[in-house]
Formats: sequence, structure tokens, C-alpha cells
Amino acid sequence: MIIDLRSDTVTQPTPAMREAMFTAPLGDDVLGDDPSVNALEAKAASLFGMEAALFCTSGTMTNQLAIRTHCRPGDDVICDYLSHVYQYEGGGISVNALASASLAHGLRGKLTPDLVRDHIYSPADPHKPLSRLVVLENTVNKGGGCYYTIPEIAAIRHVCDEHGLLLHLDGARLFNALVETGEPTEAYGQLFDSISICLSKGLGCPVGSLLLGKADFIWQARRYRKLMGGGWRQAGFLAAAGSYALDHHIGRLKQDHARARQIGAMLKGRPEVEEIYPIDTNIVIFRLPETLLASDYVQKLETVGIRGITFGKHLVRFVTHLDFTDEQLEKFDQILNRD
Ligand SMILES: *Cc1c(COP(=O)(O)O)cnc(C)c1O
Repeated sequence: MIIDLRSDTVTQPTPAMREAMFTAPLGDDVLGDDPSVNALEAKAASLFGMEAALFCTSGTMTNQLAIRTHCRPGDDVICDYLSHVYQYEGGGISVNALASASLAHGLRGKLTPDLVRDHIYSPADPHKPLSRLVVLENTVNKGGGCYYTIPEIAAIRHVCDEHGLLLHLDGARLFNALVETGEPTEAYGQLFDSISICLSKGLGCPVGSLLLGKADFIWQARRYRKLMGGGWRQAGFLAAAGSYALDHHIGRLKQDHARARQIGAMLKGRPEVEEIYPIDTNIVIFRLPETLLASDYVQKLETVGIRGITFGKHLVRFVTHLDFTDEQLEKFDQILNRD
């Protein structure tokens, strides 16, 4: 048995999800008539109280489509230095949107109203790019799965409104935040101009992300998706998995969080563990001593049947997910603490 904690993307569709996929009615999504895709987009938009949604292959695609649609060449995007849109999307802000990025250094990757204000350029200064868009990430992957609350976001929205800035949410793991805060999805729909959510992470789908926003914004994003070759025909197979996950896989995320905290407890006090980031959701990040490279440690773990990933020179990340069971958790403890 391999205990795979590299990411929450490694899950296999459950038998019930496969059944939903195999029995999904299909059409041609590029022509706009795949009923399963249309149903998923309508369900997601209504969940967040937003006008429209667009089903895409990945969170990178939904984030990049949002940035491309919101920005014009020469615009500037304000985000945290740790953010996925900056660190893990191949430089897409500059490649796709011809925009620059102003990087804030927040606490565990979280922006604050002051940090946003500090990175806004004066539109009266012809030397500067035009500040256009703020991107928040919730939960913050590189911050160890920490999350924002609605009041924190509302304060940032206020700064955006004062300066005419748009606000996008990279909500790849938004539901992990929501099951902790208990906050309603509709509040998110009201605060953001656009939201990206991933179905292939904690929700356990094989593939897929959704972009949410106003109808005209989504229509423009749909044009760019096609331009990028992202039009997919009988995508209803995958959309059906998404609808199934939204109906059945949100509440159970709490179990992933509990298991992540238990992993933290198992790591605590081990000689090779110098520091464990606070465990707020399903991500566990810990630091090794200067004398131990994360790459060596992860390789060693692999030989005993545990998979994690390096998250920096001396940082290791584990992520709990739908396929990580209590039985595996027990095994994890046995393996880790047997020598
Ligand atoms: C995983 C992730 C994404 C999207 O990743 P894809 O692999 O392109 O689906 C976006 N943002 C964050 C914070 C992520 O963790």
C-alpha cells in the first residue's frame, strides 16, 4: 500500500461518481448543447449567486482566463509572492494577459487592505503600469492551507472599490475554507468579480475547474478558452463528475482536515521535524533541519511507502484527500514512528 499525500489531485473517482459519469447525457459543448456541462455551470453559478460559469480543464486555465479577460496589455496584477497565479502558472500573467505583477509579502500568503493599498500605482503617473486586478487565494496553498474570513475579504474589496480595481479569487480549495468558517457561498459571489474553483482537488473529480462571474465576463472568457484550444466537445462525462462532487463531496472535507491535524500530531516531536506550519485545513507543511534536504527526505519516505512533495529546500508538504483513509493514517503512523 502506497500512502499518496503528494496532493489532493491524486484521487480516483468513486464508484458512484463513475456511475454518474457513465450515465451522463452528452452533447457538443462547443456548440453549447452538452446538457451535463450546462447543468454543472448553472449549478455552480447559482450556488455562488453569480450570473454565469464556465467549465474548464484546470485551475490554471480558469485563473488565466480570468486574468486575461480582466486585464489589458500593460495592466498590473496585485497578488502575494506565494500565490499560485504567480508561482505555478508558467508566467501566464505576462504570457497570456501581457500584464505585470506586483508582489506583496503577506503573512502566509494572505493579503491585507494595507498591503493592497501599498501596491497600487497612481494612474496619474505615466511611468507606471495601470493597477487593474487584485488576486486572492483561498485557501493559500503555499501558506499551508490557511484561509480568509468574509470580513477580511470585505475590507480588501473596500480598497478595490476605492481605487476601481477588480477582485479575482483563486478558490482552488475554497470549499476547504468554507467548511471551516461555515460562511455562505453567496457571500463570496457578492465580494468577487470572478471566482475560480477546482473540482479535481478536495472534491475528488478526475479533471475540471469552474470560472464564475458576470454573464458578459464569462462570455468573453469563453472566447479566450476557445482561442486557447480549450473548447471540449462531449465534456459532459467530466461535468457529471463535477455535479456529483458538488452534491456529495463538500461536507466530508472536514474529515480531511481532521486527518491533517492528526498527521501534524504524529510529526510533532520527531527529530527531523523542526517546525510544523499551523494546520488549518488539509495541508501539512513542515520544515527539516538545515542539514537535511527535502528532496532526500521525500525520496527516503517513498522507499517506505509514503509520498509527499518538496515545498522548498527544507520544506515538505502532505495533503490529505478523499482517498486517504483512517486505515492509511494508522499505517502512516506505524511507518513514521517505527525506527
Ligand atoms: C492546484 C491549484 C490551482 C490549479 O491547478 P491546476 O493543476 O491547473 O488545476 C490553482 N490555484 C491553487 C492555489 C492550486 O493549489
